Amino acid sequence: MPDDSAPARTPGFSTRLSHAGRAGTHVHGFVNPPLHRGSTVLYPDMQARKDAGAHRLEQHLIYGVLGGPTHWALENVIAEIEGGTRCQIVGSGLAAVTTPLLAFLKAGEHCLMPDSVYGPARGFCDNFLKNYGVETTYYDPCCTAAELEPLFRPNTTLLYTESPGSHTFEVQDIPALAALAHARGAKVLMDNTWGIHFFQPFRHGVDVSIQALTKYVVGHSDVLLGSVTTNSDADWERLRTAAMQLGQYASPDDCWLALRGVRTMAVRLAHQMQSGITVAAWLAGRPEVAQVLHPALPGAPGHAIWKRDFTGACSLFGVVFQPRFSQAAVHAMVESLALFGMGASWGGYESLALPTTGFITRTAGSGAFPGQVMRLHIGLEDPADLIADLERALAVLRAHPG
Ligand SMILES: *Cc1c(COP(=O)(O)O)cnc(C)c1O
Repeated sequence: MPDDSAPARTPGFSTRLSHAGRAGTHVHGFVNPPLHRGSTVLYPDMQARKDAGAHRLEQHLIYGVLGGPTHWALENVIAEIEGGTRCQIVGSGLAAVTTPLLAFLKAGEHCLMPDSVYGPARGFCDNFLKNYGVETTYYDPCCTAAELEPLFRPNTTLLYTESPGSHTFEVQDIPALAALAHARGAKVLMDNTWGIHFFQPFRHGVDVSIQALTKYVVGHSDVLLGSVTTNSDADWERLRTAAMQLGQYASPDDCWLALRGVRTMAVRLAHQMQSGITVAAWLAGRPEVAQVLHPALPGAPGHAIWKRDFTGACSLFGVVFQPRFSQAAVHAMVESLALFGMGASWGGYESLALPTTGFITRTAGSGAFPGQVMRLHIGLEDPADLIADLERALAVLRAHPG
């Protein structure tokens, strides 16, 4: 018998990750939700066909493109992680960025984007949205609400945020910026891929949260997926309607793999957070390094806001080299690494190193660095081996003719 006198305990994150999305999914007693594939859904009678459309905002089988039980299991896990009410799974992280932008903006409106936003999101605003009559202004991601306020126009309906920023890891004062946006009648969107569950978007004023599940949720560098999570019925209706009209869809096989990834995410993240901080702290003490852009490192840019708003860190951060090292020297150094692969994306079990100077666009005057910048993703390897690899590579950097 359960002891009713014991105070109810709120389950911890790891416990919730083990159980989320599984209720009511069991088939033949197997632990995991099954994989359901399908386009056609057979209706038992004509009344069911007539009623189907009325259920489009619910988890209800209507037609394959609108999702099925495998999607719902993943949607419920992500909503749980983000602390929101409803979640839409889409085919990539980029689709998770563009779908809510299309849902919450229309011709004649104005959108505010952080200068450090994920590059393809900038491309979408500067080309696609521009062609559809939406204007975008970029703002310094580190600005205060008072500094952002003059950029609001009567037709500003959307404040986009991403914290920390792509490649350069600026931490935004989300609560202050969100309060201003709401006072001006604008929606607040956030790309919360870096924060995953370490940042709870809806507790900090965000209306719509975006995740590239491709990263730590999938965790194995073999699936592309995205999610958009909302926390109000009105936002859900708007997002869900746009996603349906755009035909946004993800393969249930990919959702099933993401569900498998999510069960081990807490242990992977705990390990990778620790290894990331260990490697970042080691790099911060190196004479070749001017600055480490890791919000969890005391003294690093954005550390104070990170400490106030985040409960942890993922294992993606930046390194700024001393100005005396040329781009060619940094490229030679990265190419000499044995354990770090060179490639886009992150959040998998394997470490990655990518020179980012030359791949960073800034138009609001933010993000000037004295030397070459590199991005590191720390995987599940032993941190001592990663540090030894970096130490060998730094010798290549120092020996490079210039
Ligand atoms: C990778 C990434 C995306 C896009 O995810 P894909 O699944 O690769 O399309 C979006 N936002 C951020 C911050 C990312 O790092």
